[in-house]
Amino acid sequence: MGHANLEADVLIVGGGLAGSTLAHALAPTPLTTVLVEVRDPVQLEQPSFDGRATALANGSQRILASLGLWDQVASDAEPIREIHISECGWFGAARIRAQEEGVPALGYTLENRVLGGALWRALDRADGFTCLAPAELSSLVVGTDGVEAEVKTAEKRLSIVAKVVVAADGVNSLVRRELGIAHHEDSYQQQAVILNCTTEIPHAGRAFERFTPDGPLAFLPLSAGRVAVVWTLSHEEAGRVSALEDDVFCSELQAAFGYRLGRLTRIGSRTAYPLARVRSAAVIGPRAVLIGSAAVNLHPVAGQGFNLALRDVASLAETFTERLDERPATNDPGSADVLNRYQQWRQQDQKKVAALTHGLIRVFGYGGLPFAASRGLGLMAFDLLPGAKAALARQTMGLSGRLSRLARGLPLEANN
Ligand SMILES: Cc1cc2nc3c(=O)[nH]c(=O)nc-3n(C[C@H](O)[C@H](O)[C@H](O)COP(=O)(O)OP(=O)(O)OC[C@H]3O[C@@H](n4cnc5c(N)ncnc54)[C@H](O)[C@@H]3O)c2cc1C
Repeated sequence: MGHANLEADVLIVGGGLAGSTLAHALAPTPLTTVLVEVRDPVQLEQPSFDGRATALANGSQRILASLGLWDQVASDAEPIREIHISECGWFGAARIRAQEEGVPALGYTLENRVLGGALWRALDRADGFTCLAPAELSSLVVGTDGVEAEVKTAEKRLSIVAKVVVAADGVNSLVRRELGIAHHEDSYQQQAVILNCTTEIPHAGRAFERFTPDGPLAFLPLSAGRVAVVWTLSHEEAGRVSALEDDVFCSELQAAFGYRLGRLTRIGSRTAYPLARVRSAAVIGPRAVLIGSAAVNLHPVAGQGFNLALRDVASLAETFTERLDERPATNDPGSADVLNRYQQWRQQDQKKVAALTHGLIRVFGYGGLPFAASRGLGLMAFDLLPGAKAALARQTMGLSGRLSRLARGLPLEANN
């Protein structure tokens, strides 16, 4: 490998929600980290920390709490106490309640901007961590003992040598391409129109997932009496409703959602996101790991993308650092043994969540009346089947399978 300007144990490319959380988790450990992010993280154009709100599962809240981040964001996080699932035009409905699952909340809704701000403020104070932003990865070479990356900032070019590279650079991951890892893309031919609004009847911690002939429509409880709306529509419909005057848009949204929260009152600005399932052919490679949207990009119907990414981050940080005290001299977070252990741990959860999300879209995401009737009955039956409900609730709350130390409220071993 050539001359390095910087050396680190772990190179993270991409400082969005997934990459900056991993950098934060590793900061107090003996591992040194360099994070490369193409955007200026404190600017609003940072795409990962935009006006979207994320439904954080119960397990994600625990991970953020173990990382010392929850206290910083808790006052802006709205608890989800009940999820109401229904289908437009049909009687069947299902409810998942926090009380029945024995948890204070099924999850929390939090604006990405708030979480991103807390992450970057915490990283600003961290030691053992170098942040290059704005800085862009331009090339990556994988060797036997590590990787060498070329990075461009406004002033200079830098070479970074690390034992392992973590691709957290989003759905169009350059790291994935440089590693020669293929990906599969299934476009849903849909877009998610997102906005915040206020309602006549307070949400009282209720989230609504409503399956309409055009696609799923979610209303999530948000702080300050607001509701975060994710309205999935075909490309044409998304373009059309995005261009409507506020009052016309409001009446169309009201017609699609109904009056469970009374009249929709103030409507915020709208943004549309094209939706596709993008799956990387592998989530590890020699000296490399893919996390977040770089590994798998999901439809937002079940609100699972970042929750899955957080579980991956917690498990990866744990795998990188476990038994470090027993082998400090030989510690190599990029060894095949470490990477294989991480993959074995995470592959079942990753497969289950991707299948659950894709399955929901296939069953509920599109129109088709004969199916709609049985789907309505299915929802009623599901509501009456506590076993099925509890299993789904635990999976979507991020509490099934082997839990990471951070998800159990424990610090990483290397912190002890
Ligand atoms: C409408 C919508 C609603 C959603 N709702 C939910 C929800 O309720 N719950 C949930 O769990 N998930 C939800 N998701 C999914 C969630 O937003 C994603 O899982 C999450 O944003 C992924 O974060 P990431 O850090 O992996 O990727 P990104 O957010 O895409 O971040 C990638 C980062 O890498 C940087 N980057 C890119 N290329 C380079 C390069 N060459 N060099 C350096 N840096 C680079 C980018 O600037 C960016 O900061 C939703 C998604 C959408 C679209």
